[in-house]
Amino acid sequence: MEIFRAPRVFLIARPEFLEPEHLRVEWRGDATAGERLAEFAGRICYMSQHNPASRTTAEYLENIKKQGHGSVLEHAVYVLLIEGISRSCSHELVRHRAGFGYSQLSQRYVDESHAAFVVPPAILGDATLESEWERHVAEAQAAYVRVVEALMQRYVWVADKGHRRKMAREAARSVLPNATEVKIVVSGNARAWRTMLELRCGEGAELEIRRMAIACLRVLQREAPALFSDFEIYVADDKQEAARVAYHKV
Ligand SMILES: Cc1cc2nc3c(=O)[nH]c(=O)nc-3n(C[C@H](O)[C@H](O)[C@H](O)COP(=O)(O)OP(=O)(O)OC[C@H]3O[C@@H](n4cnc5c(N)ncnc54)[C@H](O)[C@@H]3O)c2cc1C
Repeated sequence: MEIFRAPRVFLIARPEFLEPEHLRVEWRGDATAGERLAEFAGRICYMSQHNPASRTTAEYLENIKKQGHGSVLEHAVYVLLIEGISRSCSHELVRHRAGFGYSQLSQRYVDESHAAFVVPPAILGDATLESEWERHVAEAQAAYVRVVEALMQRYVWVADKGHRRKMAREAARSVLPNATEVKIVVSGNARAWRTMLELRCGEGAELEIRRMAIACLRVLQREAPALFSDFEIYVADDKQEAARVAYHKV
């Protein structure tokens, strides 16, 4: 049985910026396509391509965040593949609607007989708790396998085997624990990511989604520092990482 002790987050798509020749910006400083795209969009509002304040992209976007002009961040979309999170974590994640798109592993179609499971952060590191947790999870998975087999027999009269399998799996998944691992592709614009990260990196967030959000934040900060650098990661009193943000809900 595969056990995840931390999420895996991969950046799988980033913006491409095709600067129109007739509206060239006087760029200052290095920046990624996503950051320049956001700056370009902001400068269209005031036709300030000549960069009157001689700002670098980082300085320009800092001011955008300070002014709460966050709509220009919506043009930069980043797509992450997230693995090693539990079904309960993804259930919380998909509550973030505005500016996000999701594609999640389907438990109706995918055989979960060999699914992986995610240890809750609060259980990690306690050998007794971990082994008890693992025993319950293994029992649930064995029950899943038995229910699938029984339902395949019960609905043997359903001629389409693919449909029969789906009927069996969609019912059998009800005995799988919340800890069952999911894989999910999440596309979100920078403004949406910021709003989600602010809520889910906070100390009030559930520990697993907080850990996932911190992992996403690290990937996004590396990719587009000017869009995410005002988040500060720290270790909270509960000994888990959290992050605070300088510019609230831009
Ligand atoms: C610590 C914590 C505890 C939580 N506990 C619970 C819980 O016990 N039960 C529960 O059900 N949920 C819970 N949630 C989920 C929470 O209620 C939200 O569903 C989730 O955080 C997504 O936030 P959102 O709706 O602001 O995000 P999004 O849907 O991404 O929306 C982003 C922003 O867009 C605007 N917006 C989006 N949709 C609308 C709309 N229809 N009308 C007007 N403005 C809109 C709002 O400004 C909103 O903040 C919890 C969340 C956190 C962080």
